[in-house]
Amino acid sequence: MSQKLNIVLFGPPGAGKGTQSTFLIGRYGLVHLSTGDLLRAEINAETELGLRAQGIMSRGELVSDDIVIGMIRNKIDANGDTKGFIFDGFPRTKAQAEALDALLNPSGNPITMMLALEVPEEELVKRLLGRGATSGRADDKDESVIRTRIREYEQKTAPLKDYYSAQKKFKGIDGMGSVEEITDRLVAAI
Ligand code: ADP
Repeated sequence: MSQKLNIVLFGPPGAGKGTQSTFLIGRYGLVHLSTGDLLRAEINAETELGLRAQGIMSRGELVSDDIVIGMIRNKIDANGDTKGFIFDGFPRTKAQAEALDALLNPSGNPITMMLALEVPEEELVKRLLGRGATSGRADDKDESVIRTRIREYEQKTAPLKDYYSAQKKFKGIDGMGSVEEITDRLVAAI
């Protein structure tokens, strides 16, 4: 059997990962795994995990590695027959990236590539405040929370570019332009 297509869709908050994932899962028949969506589902269901995550997320900080790695492990195990995964918002720390490799590599279907959407900070803040006006996401409504999320990204998540570059899997994608233009760039990279 041919290798699965396992993509890490990477980029700061507001870079357009969710929007682009929707198209890519349809085109390539992939399963979309967004840790942000999974965490918000836990909060809505008022689970113990959701209650633990809620305050952390409302401040714009990262939830603990153990929680998100556990959620991702369950979803990978539950989707053994997929053509591949799009990881959206995961991994966000080096510990998460190492855990993901440990989960995927033994199956013979490692991460294929990291596609990193690149967008300047002022554009991110503008997009997130715009989304906050309509989405109902509390963490999109407050500019200081948005800036905290961007700082968390720069400090803990952006270094993962080096992690994937060292494996020759990193591809930077210009995230400015229309949704269709960015989709075309992603497809060309895949
Ligand atoms: P965005 O990338 O636009 O900030 P997400 O939905 O990906 O939105 O994430 C929302 C929040 O959920 C993050 O600010 C963080 O608190 C939490 N979160 C999501 N994924 C992770 C992760 N992999 N590790 C730690 N925290 C996470």
